[in-house]
Amino acid sequence: MEATWKKYLRRETLPLPFCPGCGHGILLGAILRAIDASGIDIKDMLFVSGIGCAGWIPSPHIKADTMHVTHGRPIAFATGAKLFNPRLKVMVVSGDGDLASIGGNHLIHAARRDVDMVVICANNEIYGMTGGQVSPTTGLGAKTTTTLAGNVEPPLDLCRLVEAAGASYVARSTVFHLEHLIGILKKALSHKGFSFIDALSPCPVQYGRRNLYASASEQLKDLEKRCISLEKARDMTQEALKGKIIIGEFVCRGD
Ligand code: SF4
Repeated sequence: MEATWKKYLRRETLPLPFCPGCGHGILLGAILRAIDASGIDIKDMLFVSGIGCAGWIPSPHIKADTMHVTHGRPIAFATGAKLFNPRLKVMVVSGDGDLASIGGNHLIHAARRDVDMVVICANNEIYGMTGGQVSPTTGLGAKTTTTLAGNVEPPLDLCRLVEAAGASYVARSTVFHLEHLIGILKKALSHKGFSFIDALSPCPVQYGRRNLYASASEQLKDLEKRCISLEKARDMTQEALKGKIIIGEFVCRGD
């Protein structure tokens, strides 16, 4: 892994800016390992990110072309870059607030158009960098700076949203399930069309502390407990699935 870090990361921008225990460093490692295993030349890639902690996953750390753009707009910038140079392998990495709230319309319409790009939502179920506010993926009952008594709104299932809009590759994993996450990242990289990965990546500072996790590792263990594979979920009732996070590959069309 050290060789992968050295090969793909700019030494001068290290250390990474994430808080201790943050899932985003693990997610960055998974992305780099998937790219390495896929044999893609990083010089043929463009990474686009928006505002928030997840925006720092690719930019400015990955030794490739990176664009760090305005809040909610990475998919719009990525679409423009792809249209200008169709040979580019374009990857968007951003957070749930950026992609699903402020940039929600860009997400829906890029999926509808099946634009050839990989979009990774580093989903920590909260606005991290901007102060710990509720986001569209915050779970019911979760405490945030804007839901002090617990969130009363149901979370948005991003995979079902982009699937309904027309995305041709849709999957979910977590930074706990590292090999699974790398596997779907590799598939997304080789897919032609709109590939969306909902990557659960816990925020121990803004989310974990407010929701009384004793440590970052406790939060990770709880994430594992909440997850269930798509295969098992198929045999369960909606009632039994309440509060569960289904991981797996939901759509793989056209490969
Ligand atoms: S605030 Fe949360 S998401 Fe942001 S770097 Fe810290 S732990 Fe990670």
